Amino acid sequence: MAEQKRDYYEVLGVSKTATAEELKKAYRQLAKKYHPDANPNNKKEAEAKFKEVNEAYETLSDPQKRQMYDQFGFNGPQGGFGGANGYYSYSSSGFEGFDIDLDDIVSSIFGGGFGGRSRSSARSSGPTKGADLRYNLQITFEEAFKGVKKQITINREEECPICKGTGAKVGSKIDTCSACKGTGTIKSVRNTIFGQTQTTRTCDICGGTGKIIREPCTECKGKGRIRKPTKITVNIPAGIDDGQTVVLRGEGAPGSKGGPKGDLYIVISLKRSNIFTRQDENVFCNIPITITQATLGAELQIPMVDGSKEKFKIPEGTQTGTQFTIRGKGFKNINRGYYGDLIFTVLVQTPKKLTKEQRALLEELAKTMNEQPPVKKKGIFER
Ligand SMILES: [Zn+2]
Ligand SMILES: [Zn+2]
Repeated sequence: MAEQKRDYYEVLGVSKTATAEELKKAYRQLAKKYHPDANPNNKKEAEAKFKEVNEAYETLSDPQKRQMYDQFGFNGPQGGFGGANGYYSYSSSGFEGFDIDLDDIVSSIFGGGFGGRSRSSARSSGPTKGADLRYNLQITFEEAFKGVKKQITINREEECPICKGTGAKVGSKIDTCSACKGTGTIKSVRNTIFGQTQTTRTCDICGGTGKIIREPCTECKGKGRIRKPTKITVNIPAGIDDGQTVVLRGEGAPGSKGGPKGDLYIVISLKRSNIFTRQDENVFCNIPITITQATLGAELQIPMVDGSKEKFKIPEGTQTGTQFTIRGKGFKNINRGYYGDLIFTVLVQTPKKLTKEQRALLEELAKTMNEQPPVKKKGIFER
């Protein structure tokens, strides 16, 4: 899949802001134009165009896929940092203890809808792309901040290693299907909007394989593929936010008849932090201070998301609830590369227990300011 691809919007001849309705209209026109059955003289070229149009529409008609395509193009967000195809060497150290829910693997979420078309259309006997898989992965706040490599295990279908995907017992005979003469499809002539059209459907005797297996492979029971847990290392970029997705191209279910593998969509959720909250790239936290720090001013140690601390001077006379900003210490913006800010709110803690000495000092202080401050009158034009 290393061929030069045309932009999906360009393929459909629509603008980047095209509505779902406009996409559908453009798709219908092009699909009609390039349908292989409507182009008997240059079938091959039409077929290639038809596929291109279908692929473009399949992506752009799905709001989630479209957003991902708009954001990351063909390669997904992992394209920009490190391995391009999601294949990374893995060492067993350093990956223990994160929790991944195996039940979270929902197969073929994205392949289900529009993908069904390929099964009923004339191209059903050709190579079909494997289903896309989805995996929900929870990471910590700190991991999202720094970026992290995670190893996940997905229970994915793989080509059977014993029969190499044929489904036949090794050394056994495979016959050519007599119903379809090995083509996997049955042709019939129909009257359609294109005039008289030849349509093909999948042969139901051999299920489209063109072959009849006499002795099925015992490992896969003749299916040619087996489901087995597969370990995959995922590079999660720094700055990723709750609900964002990392796409690993070609890590989905295997295709049929030499079709490419589907893709794996890793949907990220962030664990809550005990200290920080996040809004886009900005990080927020509360910092407790004493009455003397608030009154006299102080140099505070502010915790950063990466675990380090930053010194920050607050002025004398700081009121509780005041916000201070440390620039550039927030999350990285995953698309544009800039960093957000860390914004902390100081909360003055009134002491609940005092030593004898502290009480004496405060009483001394109180004598010098033993009057309640005046209640400020708020004008109606003030906030
Ligand atoms: Zn097998
Ligand atoms: Zn057949």
